Amino acid sequence: MKDQYGRTIDYLRISITDACNLRCRYCMPESAAGCALEQAEQNPPLTVEEMLKIVHAAAGLGITHYRITGGEPLVRKECVELVQKIKAVPGTASVGITTNGVRLASCARDLKAAGCDSVNVSLDTVDAAEFAALTGRDALEQVKQGICAAKEAGLLVKLNAEELIEFAEQEKVPVRFIEVMPVGAGKSYVGPSNEALKTELEQWYGACTPDQEKEGNGPAAYVRYEKLSMPVGFISAIHGKFCGSCNRIRLTSRGFLKLCLCYENGVDLREVLQNGTAADLRDVMAQAILKKPMEHCFERPKDMTEHHLMSGIGG
Ligand code: SAM
Ligand code: SF4
Repeated sequence: MKDQYGRTIDYLRISITDACNLRCRYCMPESAAGCALEQAEQNPPLTVEEMLKIVHAAAGLGITHYRITGGEPLVRKECVELVQKIKAVPGTASVGITTNGVRLASCARDLKAAGCDSVNVSLDTVDAAEFAALTGRDALEQVKQGICAAKEAGLLVKLNAEELIEFAEQEKVPVRFIEVMPVGAGKSYVGPSNEALKTELEQWYGACTPDQEKEGNGPAAYVRYEKLSMPVGFISAIHGKFCGSCNRIRLTSRGFLKLCLCYENGVDLREVLQNGTAADLRDVMAQAILKKPMEHCFERPKDMTEHHLMSGIGG
């Protein structure tokens, strides 16, 4: 369906858990993890059946692309089952997952068999000490094995990353640079602009030109560098607003339908899930989508109303 600004909304990100096996400093630092766990106990995540009801309603509203996220989606044992069930919903064009890759090696084949279309692995560094300092865990080897296993299983893999060009080139997977957003623990970071990074990379990899091929359903803008065989993507939420073409909404693990990363606006779907009909659920979701804000305000942090951690939103 279209929102009030004429944008086609066809992409739903589903966070299936707030829990995570890493503690990335910009997302869920050790100090915040206890609080997230406490909240999860008081307000448990949606069941697979509840999520599927929402997916059926979303499909009725024109959603065709889904991405499973978290927290870390692969810590929830029903992740593969959910991928397979969403793929079976009429109208589904793609289901991907975004993962830290720690548990990917053990479930890559099952994900492929379930029909998973793409796996985005968030990996900020291939230096073991830096990885441990950034994520609070010594798990780099597991992530690398996960990436290899996913490729071997025939899954389409992309890296969400900070400084990983060489590794991505060697493994023949595209890499994307995401500007840190002032959400949750990310508020204490001021990251460089992707535009500056794009130009800086020309020193090493030659001139870059826009990539003509469309890669994926998201806001990444891809370029090709003369000396690299793989495209490089830039998701520039802060310095290059792409709200005019935003196609997405988000479902948190507790059933809150969120309309923009920057604001708490949205609707709690629990009540209608429990007491309403399928038609009621679809109506409530359609009304919410109509109220999707025009654009984010990350450049004016005082106007932001979202105060949750990114691990509770799904990125
Ligand atoms: N655990 C999975 C992972 O790390 O890919 C999925 C959830 S994580 C919240 C989704 C994405 O959000 C990751 O790529 C992560 O790097 C990104 N992220 C977390 N905090 C962020 C922030 N403050 N600004 C921008 N991206 C952030
Ligand atoms: Fe966990 Fe992903 Fe957040 Fe890192 S970015 S703490 S892996 S949810």
